[in-house]
Amino acid sequence: MLLLNPGPVTLSERVRGALARADLCHREPEFTALQTAVRQGLLGVYELDPREYSVALLPGSGTAAVEAMLATLVPRDGRLLVLDNGVYGERMARIAAIHGIDHLRLEHPWDAALDVERLAAVLERSPVTHLAVVHHETTTGRLNDLAAVAAVCRARGVALLVDAVSSFGAEPIDFAGWGVAACAATANKCLHGVPGTAFVVARRQALAAAAAPPRTLYLDAVGWERAQREGGTPFTPAVHSLFALEEALRELAEEGGREARRRRYALLAGIVRAGLAAAGIEPLLPPDACSVVVAAYRLPHGVDYAALHDGLKRRGFVIYAGQGRLAADIVRVSTMGAITEADMHRFADAVAELASGG
Ligand SMILES: *Cc1c(COP(=O)(O)O)cnc(C)c1O
Repeated sequence: MLLLNPGPVTLSERVRGALARADLCHREPEFTALQTAVRQGLLGVYELDPREYSVALLPGSGTAAVEAMLATLVPRDGRLLVLDNGVYGERMARIAAIHGIDHLRLEHPWDAALDVERLAAVLERSPVTHLAVVHHETTTGRLNDLAAVAAVCRARGVALLVDAVSSFGAEPIDFAGWGVAACAATANKCLHGVPGTAFVVARRQALAAAAAPPRTLYLDAVGWERAQREGGTPFTPAVHSLFALEEALRELAEEGGREARRRRYALLAGIVRAGLAAAGIEPLLPPDACSVVVAAYRLPHGVDYAALHDGLKRRGFVIYAGQGRLAADIVRVSTMGAITEADMHRFADAVAELASGG
């Protein structure tokens, strides 16, 4: 079965094999070596300077890292603006509300680009210390224009917190140029690891300015980072998920790093787009607004999602429905994981056959 849903991904045999490594206690030096290698490997994906940035590894899914980032890094006297053009932006606003973080929300239609002029106007009226934004909004496959958002933040000294859960490892993130204070991501999307480990990459300066006292014990990214920096871990880590992530990071580096991965995703996404276009199935967004990671397509009239899903599953492919208000209208296809060009050609042929009533 090939997973074309946006995470978890189809594993390579090599990463799957890492799950069978010998059992390991997290209070032993071998674990410290593993944890250190993973933390260094994550900084290495974007060539980040360890003197400036650090990593907090957390057991959990991507949402754990996003929640840890927001709950930890917005100080008690800070104020947050959440940009929202999809499910994951909306989720960040919910996280802020649950933790009692003073926040505003700037909503957009789910198929719209972020409105940077409106953002500047809001910041003019209502100053904030931090801004939270989703890099790749997986709801629609839109790659938000963080360069433009960052420029507005920079001009006003607003710290940028990024949900990079479905972009880290493939899409460009200009940490220095955009002035990213922190980003949250996970092992099991563009990095091709297994679920169970998520992480926050943060400027040391942002960690030092974090909320005190912490708003959360378990999701305190500062606490995880401090213990990990000293070679330990505050609570039981997802050891096997770290085995897999270490192997996945090696594989990524050997394949040429994130730029090579981005090129590969672009190639696969192009095969799907062309194949589906030939069958009369159009993308939701113009190609220049899309990530290379996930693309959303409008379901053709008369094609029912459940029937398409089940027909594809019988042929060995798992696709993904739309979420929330897009649930009945779109289908999403990811390029992440151990997937070949031949797989994507077979997939496009299967969709064409099913969409034509075959
Ligand atoms: C997948 C995803 C998340 C987190 O989802 P989990 O199910 O918690 O892993 C958060 N933000 C974005 C943009 C995502 O794509």
